[in-house]
Amino acid sequence: MLLTDLRLGERVVDIRIADGLIAEITPGSGAGLGGWVSPGLWDHHVHFTQWALTSRRVDLAGATSAREAADVIAGIRDRDLIVGANFRDAVWPDSPSAELLDAATGGTPAVLVSADLHAVWLNSAALQLFGHAGHPTGLLKEDDAFAIHARLDTVSDEIVDGWAGDAAAAAARRGVVGVVDLEMAWNRGAWERRIAAGHDALRVEFNIYTQDLDRAIAEGLRTGDRLHELLTVGRYKVLTDGSLNTRTAYTWEPYEDGSHGMLTVPPETLLPLMRKAFDAGILPDVHAIGDHANTLALDAFEALGVAGRIEHAQLLAERDYPRFAQLGVEVSVQPEHAMDDRDASERYWSGRTGRLYPFRSLLDSGATLLFGSDAPVSPLDPWIGMAAAITRERDGREPWHPEQRVTHVEALAASTRSTIAPGQPADLVITGIDPSTATGDELRHMPVLATLLGGRFTYQAN
Ligand SMILES: [Zn+2]
Repeated sequence: MLLTDLRLGERVVDIRIADGLIAEITPGSGAGLGGWVSPGLWDHHVHFTQWALTSRRVDLAGATSAREAADVIAGIRDRDLIVGANFRDAVWPDSPSAELLDAATGGTPAVLVSADLHAVWLNSAALQLFGHAGHPTGLLKEDDAFAIHARLDTVSDEIVDGWAGDAAAAAARRGVVGVVDLEMAWNRGAWERRIAAGHDALRVEFNIYTQDLDRAIAEGLRTGDRLHELLTVGRYKVLTDGSLNTRTAYTWEPYEDGSHGMLTVPPETLLPLMRKAFDAGILPDVHAIGDHANTLALDAFEALGVAGRIEHAQLLAERDYPRFAQLGVEVSVQPEHAMDDRDASERYWSGRTGRLYPFRSLLDSGATLLFGSDAPVSPLDPWIGMAAAITRERDGREPWHPEQRVTHVEALAASTRSTIAPGQPADLVITGIDPSTATGDELRHMPVLATLLGGRFTYQAN
């Protein structure tokens, strides 16, 4: 196959593809009207089933108070269980309560999931249904919240897989060729089932959680193993703290109520788990959001002498910046969270926001950044993350800590895994605007003309 008349930097080129790889790049003869070609995009942190389910849920992202969220739900009368998503109560002037929802929903069970997934807000009927009758507020956090998610996901596999297929096609329309799936589930089974049923829109690397670590080891899974052309074994994901929105991220300095968040897996538990995974050939991937949680995660990598990855690394102590590169720990970050969490951060971490999402400092210290969306926390669209990291601004507001901006080249590198060169996979995205000079707005609405995965079109605009 030959792709012709594409812009690659300053050049116009033709790209010949054979056996799923870029075979040859030759000078093109046209005017470059075919669009700009870039490596296909990766989202390094997705909860894929959650994302597929969320796309079917009532969106509460626009609710600026608990009352507004309840009002959105009040209009819904056509289902047995109301499920809402994406509320952000950290900046609400009022508090969520079961009674507030009861007034809006009557006897229909309602479960509202927070944007960061660390909290669920239930009405009385849902509290009854899920075994929390009499709960004082109806707002459940952390493990209690995760247990509710698991129950919500008991839609039949066939239906969820259909939704996942739609979500994968939507990602391909944005130029995505691969995702790292951090769904809190046995992802090998889900993706082998989907691939058997015809899924072919994305490459998938899947992570393994503590509850499935023994099973993964028993099945001989090792990081980097290819189970199928599109399916690769990822890492062992272990959560050590909570999140900013629920004020459970584990921090050195206290929150306004004097708490320091939650350390859900302390070092004495973390180290043996990481060692066990690493000894079996599975690299550790540690969730750490607060600065203290990050220090402890880095300490663990240092103590074990193993490389790996930290997820989120939102708030960092400055003395920890250089340790990521020194220890070979990659930093998997979600730049759009910086925009979403801006107001909550200024409220709960005021005086510390210069150490939040310090992408520039991390790159300057030699760290490897990987961008992701944490979908459904932010949309599965890497252009959005790139825009946030490059501009540090959204919604016409002043840039937020612009000293931590990254360049277009750095943002694209953090969102891709291949390059445009002979021998590289023919994972490509072709765009109608030059992504190396696009403004933040242009990036967020990047016109994608085509996406290729291993030389096969997964999307082509008409
Ligand atoms: Zn996540």
